[in-house]
Amino acid sequence: MPETGRWTLSPIVLIAGVAILVVTGLLLNRHDSRAAPLVLWDEGGIAPPALAGQAAATPAAKPPTLAPPIRARVGLQVGHWESDELPVELAILRTERGANAGGFAEVDINYAIAGRVAALLTARGITVDLLPATVPPGYTADAFIAIHSDYNNSPAMGGFKLARFRDSAIPARDDALIAAITTEYGAATGQGRDGYITRAMTGYYAFNGADFRHAIASQTPGVIIELGFLTNPADRALLTERQETVAAGLAGGIIRFLTGA
Ligand SMILES: [Zn+2]
Repeated sequence: MPETGRWTLSPIVLIAGVAILVVTGLLLNRHDSRAAPLVLWDEGGIAPPALAGQAAATPAAKPPTLAPPIRARVGLQVGHWESDELPVELAILRTERGANAGGFAEVDINYAIAGRVAALLTARGITVDLLPATVPPGYTADAFIAIHSDYNNSPAMGGFKLARFRDSAIPARDDALIAAITTEYGAATGQGRDGYITRAMTGYYAFNGADFRHAIASQTPGVIIELGFLTNPADRALLTERQETVAAGLAGGIIRFLTGA
């Protein structure tokens, strides 16, 4: 095919053309008093001329890039919630109401934080089960987190801690969940860690499918978190007045685990 006949628009020709159109438009507007109040410059694809003392129009900001939804199921157990409805096999825990300090009941703190975490996870596309003290038999999910708050006779005792089942069938997965939450929760709250892990935590009933029907499946990664001490003034202020921060840290840790970040 011969090249003759092809015509290329040079930038100079384009600029000259636009300038002519702009000047013509200004002249027309000046001389036609019946014209509409102002020429709509955004029509016709011609950029408006910058007026003196006015910054040139900036291009519209790009919409934020939305993170893809996370296809996962997470169980959040509210420690002590509806404990009076625990089954016979766990009847001994029906009167375990949790900590009380400074006018706050642990179950209320656990519930409020769990609800906020659930909202944050749901917003990322994650399916969340808000579970009471009674866990459905063989509960299966991509992660299970039992949410509790701690207490101690000494108000000096503070910090958060996490533990998994001592007889876990998937200790490496559980430990990965612990590590992810520890990183994000610690960074968000600025809280220190309490390293004293009790036997009650590592033998938590909801992990123990060998002894109880109402426990998670052995292949469900599960951890228990003590968010902080209700008996410690700084921890109590965090858990009651900065719940959005606490929830963001916990949700961030769960997402970190699920996404392998
Ligand atoms: Zn508790």
